[in-house]
Amino acid sequence: AKSSGRGTYHVFEEATAATAMARLELEQELREAAENGLFQLVYQPKVSVSSGETVGVEALIRWTRRSGEQVSPAEFIPIAEETGLIVPIGEWCLRTAARQAKGWLEAGTPRKIAVNLSPHQVMNERFLGIISGILEETDLPPQYLEVEITESAMMDAEIANRFLSGCRALGIEVSLDDFGTGYSSLSRLTKLPLNLVKIDRSFTQHVSTQEKARALVRSIIDIAHNLGMRCLAEGVETQEQLAVIQSLGCDEAQGFLFSHPVPPDALGQIPAPSINL
Ligand code: C2E
Ligand code: CA
Ligand code: CA
Ligand code: CA
Repeated sequence: AKSSGRGTYHVFEEATAATAMARLELEQELREAAENGLFQLVYQPKVSVSSGETVGVEALIRWTRRSGEQVSPAEFIPIAEETGLIVPIGEWCLRTAARQAKGWLEAGTPRKIAVNLSPHQVMNERFLGIISGILEETDLPPQYLEVEITESAMMDAEIANRFLSGCRALGIEVSLDDFGTGYSSLSRLTKLPLNLVKIDRSFTQHVSTQEKARALVRSIIDIAHNLGMRCLAEGVETQEQLAVIQSLGCDEAQGFLFSHPVPPDALGQIPAPSINL
């Protein structure tokens, strides 16, 4: 950089400073949002592949900055994890989802809500107490709440087992999110008492066009079933993908083919998905 002259070096420094400033501002605004719960939850249906019925929904967080700009959770959740803000944000998600589930239950349209957890939350010893406190305060029967965790949260076998048995004791189900993208092997799956395995979109995406992807998805489904777990294909976008996962015996599906994530009031308006039985 130096050989290209003083001017260039200077510009580079300014760009770095501007990036650092922008990041600091983002962090500060995220802190304020976390303190005041300035987020929304949107919900995406989980659909039964055999009946086409919605069997539950996944809660996904949304954040709109003061400027009106939407920031993707893929961008701000990692920052929340680095800064510890994931603790209040995660608690806000759980409480908001539990209240929503209770509201739906009381309105006569019960829906089970799955909430995404960060590895941070799973590894926090106080976390199970927080979930049970939220179940109590909202008076929500535990079968209407579910948590989704990724393999990276389950690296430590002792922590994983403590967390999973704690969830069992509370009566909430646990799904393994993004399966196939992390470090864990199929054999690791056999050691964890999970309810549902979610096959990552990167496999679903190619299931109707690539024999390798199809073979892999077939194995995941078979192993999950042999272990007494259900299987869900994430990111189903086409009828062709749906037909393949249906033929492989996948239990549930999620994706834009059925619905994008929507605000809670819009869920009732989703037309029945077209599944050829
Ligand atoms: P995820 O848990 O794997 O969620 C699925 C993501 O895929 C969502 O993106 C969803 O909108 C998107 N998606 C669903 N169906 C389709 C499809 O058919 N095609 C495509 N291309 N995409 C689809 P989103 O909402 O942007 O969330 C991204 C990630 O951010 C999530 O991945 C999750 O890891 C994280 N996240 C979202 N909400 C929360 C939260 O409340 N807490 C935590 N800890 N993480 C969250
Ligand atoms: Ca998820
Ligand atoms: Ca996922
Ligand atoms: Ca993902």
